[in-house]
Amino acid sequence: MENVFKDAIIPLASLMNGQRQDISEHVYGLQVQIVNVYFVRNRNTDDWVLIDAGMPRSDRAIIKHAAEIFGPNHSPKAIILTHGHFDHVGSITDLITYWDVPVYAHEQELDYLTGKASYPKGDAEVEGGLVSSLSPLFPNHGINLDNHVHPLPDDHSVPFLDDWEWIATPGHTDGHISLFRELDRTIIVGDAFCTVKQESLYNVITQKHEISGPPKYFTTDWEKAEKSVQKLRELEPHFACPGHGLPIHGEKLTADLQHLTAHFEKIAKPEHGKFVD
Ligand SMILES: [Zn+2]
Ligand SMILES: [Zn+2]
Repeated sequence: MENVFKDAIIPLASLMNGQRQDISEHVYGLQVQIVNVYFVRNRNTDDWVLIDAGMPRSDRAIIKHAAEIFGPNHSPKAIILTHGHFDHVGSITDLITYWDVPVYAHEQELDYLTGKASYPKGDAEVEGGLVSSLSPLFPNHGINLDNHVHPLPDDHSVPFLDDWEWIATPGHTDGHISLFRELDRTIIVGDAFCTVKQESLYNVITQKHEISGPPKYFTTDWEKAEKSVQKLRELEPHFACPGHGLPIHGEKLTADLQHLTAHFEKIAKPEHGKFVD
């Protein structure tokens, strides 16, 4: 399967690029350039699943870290996507070619993953920094994973991860999902919210902590995005694994989510943009 993003080289990387973090039990994060992927092991079996597929050309780094965590020749059972933006599926064709595993995503995201639809272009009008300004250059076209991609189960179970459920968190995209493990209240939130001001290149490079809404330049429905953050807060999470920014936990997470939901309009929503005016 051809990787349509193989020539889409985005020369942006944080200082945390290539660093791995142990977050909560059996959850490991890896930063690839400007986005995180997560490796999650099933508590009851040896199975593991990859959440999101990073930037284009990050397949080697992801495979290397997977081997370090789970041992060599131990493929994941599946790749689960929070959504289909290029920075979350950049290496997916290479990874499924290497591992030969199924991909799961929300039903409403499938058109973008089977070549039927493209996302809107990045909106530089939202401002906030150089990443926003560059965002119209980011790939926005859908990819075609054909019969490799499947809808997530209707009962909100997560394939191969017994203790997890998926939660619809639309707004950033229509079919955006998060994952939740009630046992220790871990959430993996994709782009539902960020812990870095993703629009600012300086902040992205330094990974300066700042609770933020979804990346402004790609978010299409702000009303739904706000409700999704509210929904995640109501889960009273203890560990949060964002697609952008460093994982946070405990009181800091509680305070951050309280702050973000109380001031969503001011913190998260752009003043101008294709999807606010
Ligand atoms: Zn996104
Ligand atoms: Zn993203």
